[in-house]
Formats: sequence, structure tokens, C-alpha cells
Amino acid sequence: MLKLVLSALLLLATHGDACAWGREGHKVVAVIAQAHLTPEAKAAVMSILAAEGKTSMASVALWADDVRKLPIPRQPSHEVKLPLNHDGYDPAVSCKGNRCVLAAIDADIAVLRARDLPPAAQVAALKYLIHFIGDLHQPLHASADNGQEMMEIGGKVQKLHRVWDTEIIQAQNLRTASLAQEVEASPFPVDLSGSPTDWALEGRDIARDVIFPTLAGYERDSADGRIILPESYNKKNWPIVERRLKQAGYRLASLLNGIFSKSPRGF
Ligand SMILES: [Zn+2]
Repeated sequence: MLKLVLSALLLLATHGDACAWGREGHKVVAVIAQAHLTPEAKAAVMSILAAEGKTSMASVALWADDVRKLPIPRQPSHEVKLPLNHDGYDPAVSCKGNRCVLAAIDADIAVLRARDLPPAAQVAALKYLIHFIGDLHQPLHASADNGQEMMEIGGKVQKLHRVWDTEIIQAQNLRTASLAQEVEASPFPVDLSGSPTDWALEGRDIARDVIFPTLAGYERDSADGRIILPESYNKKNWPIVERRLKQAGYRLASLLNGIFSKSPRGF
């Protein structure tokens, strides 16, 4: 029944502006993750996706954004607003009422671990998890200041958030498969230890230590105060985004490998 309802709602879905990693970013994370699944996890993931006739993780990586604009009550949050200081994660501050992506990720993992829930619940949890591990790695999805300030790059005015979701990736001018190859081949090692909370804190630290301090060096438009970013901004920040996409892909695989292993790891 849930599946029928969601399928019907999806027919109404429109592709608005994506939330967190633009469409390419989410697909890249899914492509990389799928390539690093154990045979056991891959079989489990494919069998869940088969409930909707899907055969790849990338094909469902955008679903969570597509359904987001629909009037479904209590949609999960795609971000966690961690204070821009050196504190750790305090759910009472950053996840009141479980309204944050970290709580959503926990819930999705619990559904997938249960294994005996109906296919519709499993497929929804899997689609959310694929999307949310991506979102979690976009630094402005883990920061109390999520980048609503207006920027101008090359005559285009948009929010800082969108620059980091989409523009930096688009400036690479590559399609998903090539982008995934490039990210996969990047020299950054990926630390698979830690939890989604640790990964969010890493993103918060990037926002606090790199993204916001750098903005102070650029001039502002005298009329409306928007920050004028140089055209080199996107290329200059690509290595940060590339590293986050790689981490997200490998860590998503690691989570799924743990969930579907015969001896699950304790995330
Ligand atoms: Zn999202």
C-alpha cells in the first residue's frame, strides 16, 4: 500500500531545485558506493531495489529530493545544523524532535537491519539512506549556517548553498560516469572509521574553517551586499567537493556492507 501511495505521489513530483549535492553529485556517490559493495551487500541491495524494478543505486539517488516537495507530513530533514564552534553533536541542540538528517539515517539503518519489514518500507529506507549519506557530506548540510547568503559568480546570482550543492560540480563539465571515475581516481584516502555523526562534524569543520572564512576575503556589491566570487571559485574548491563525494561513496558502501553482512558492524 505504501508503495502504491508513493508511486502515485511520484507521478506528481516535479524536479525543483535539488537539495544538497545537485543531481550529478548524488548519482556520483551512488555509483561509487555500488562499486564497493561486497557481493553479499550487492545482492541484498539489488533485491530491495528490484521491488520497484530498479537495477542501480544511482537510479534512486534523487528520489528523496523529488518527493520532498510533496505535501507528505513529517518529511525527514536533509540536514543537521551543527553550531559553528568546536562542540560535538548534541541532539538536544541540533536534532530537536529527531528533525535532522542524522536521526533520519539512524531510522533508515534500523529499517534495513530489521530485514523482515515489507518491501515498500525497505526500499524507501534504502533510497533515503543512499541520498542522505550524500547530503551529509555536503558541508553546508551539516552547518548551523547553511549558506543562504547571496553570491554572484560570473554574473549569476545565487545562494552560497547552491554554489556548493551544484555549481562547483557542474563547473567540472562532466557526465556522471566520467565524474565518478575522476572522483574515484582522486588521491584522497578515505577514513571509513567513525559514524555518520563524525562525518557530519567533518563537514561542519570545513564550513567553519574554510568556506566561511574564505568569503571574508571577497568584495561585496555596494547595493545589496551580495558577495562577488571570482570565476576561479568553483575550480578552486573542487578538491574539497571531490574529496567529500569520494568519502560519501565509500562510506555509504561501508555502511551497506555492514548492514547486510552476516555479522553486522556496530555503527
Ligand atoms: Zn537532499
